[in-house]
Amino acid sequence: MSRTDACGGLGSRTMDADRELLGNLILARGEVDRAAEWRSDVDWLAGHRADPASRVVTVCDGSARITHSADGAVALALSPAMDVAGDVDLTLLGVDAGDIAYFARHADERDGDEESWADLRRIGADLNARDAGLMVTAVALDNWLRTHHRCPRCGAETVFSAAGWSRHCPADDSEHFPRTDPAVIVLVLDRQDRALLGRQGRWAEGWFSTLAGFVEAGESAEAAVRREIHEESGVVISDGLDDIRYLGSQPWPFPCSLMLGYHAWTDDPTIDVDGEEIVEARWFTRDELASACASGEVRLPPSVSIARRLIERWYGAELPGDWSRPLIPR
Ligand SMILES: [Zn+2]
Repeated sequence: MSRTDACGGLGSRTMDADRELLGNLILARGEVDRAAEWRSDVDWLAGHRADPASRVVTVCDGSARITHSADGAVALALSPAMDVAGDVDLTLLGVDAGDIAYFARHADERDGDEESWADLRRIGADLNARDAGLMVTAVALDNWLRTHHRCPRCGAETVFSAAGWSRHCPADDSEHFPRTDPAVIVLVLDRQDRALLGRQGRWAEGWFSTLAGFVEAGESAEAAVRREIHEESGVVISDGLDDIRYLGSQPWPFPCSLMLGYHAWTDDPTIDVDGEEIVEARWFTRDELASACASGEVRLPPSVSIARRLIERWYGAELPGDWSRPLIPR
C-alpha cells in the first residue's frame, strides 16, 4: 500500500500535505530575536538593564512568575529590568521587534503566593507565542545554570558569563555551554495504517502515548528511532528510506531535552514490550482510538506535547481536550 493510499481515510490529504512538518508546536513558538550578538557586549547589556522599557521574567526550578488578567488569561509577570539590583545575574532572552530587551532572573526560591507561579507544562499552551518562547528559554537556561556550577575539567567553581549563555572556568580558562539532550519521539504505523501507542510502567492504567527515548552517544537520530522502538515494543521499523519520516521538533526543558518527532512504519505488527519502560502497547485504528477515548478507557498526552501532535497528524484532526490525561505532577 502506498502512503497516499494509507492516508485515504483523510480524504483531502495530498502527498504534498503529507510532506509538511508539524506547524505551531506549543513550546516551539516564540517571537523574540535571541540576539546572540549582544550576549558578550557589556556596554549593550548595561545600557539595556538600565533602560526603563526592558523587562524581566523571574524563574525558579521550572516555574515562572505569572499574572492572571481579569478575563482569566495567563501571561508572564514581566517587571522592569532597572528594578533588579546591578549585582544580580540576569540572562538575556532576546530583543523584540520594538527593541525591548527581555531578561530572566534566576530566583533561589519562589516568593509570594503559589498562585503567582506556574510550570511550563501547566501553562505552556495558555501563553501567547512571545511569552511561551521567553519561558521555554528561561526555564531551559535556569535548569542548566543551577546544576552546572563546577567545571567538568578541573572541578573549579565556574562563573556566569555571556549573559547566562556560558559558564567560564577561571582556573583553566575553559568555556561551558548550555546542554541540550536530543530525544526521538515516534508514532509507529503499520501497513493497515494503525498506530502503536504504549504505556509506561509509572503511568496510570489507560494512559497511552507515542514511544520515545534519548539519542545515545555516537548514534544518529534515525538509528535511535529503530533501536528505541525495538527495545521498548519489540516492533522492527522497516528498512526503506521512507520508513522513518522526520516531522518537527520542540524543546522540552524537563530538564533539557529536544524532542525530535517522527512517524515510522513497520511491516510486522508483532508486539513484545520490554516490561520495564513500556509495560503495555497496542495498535489502534482511528475508530478504535476514538471509542477508547470516548469511553474513558484510554487517555492521551496533553496538547503541550509533540506526542499529541504526532497522533493528531495521523488521526487527521485535532483531538478533543477531554481525551487528555491529567498533567503529571512535578
Ligand atoms: Zn576548569
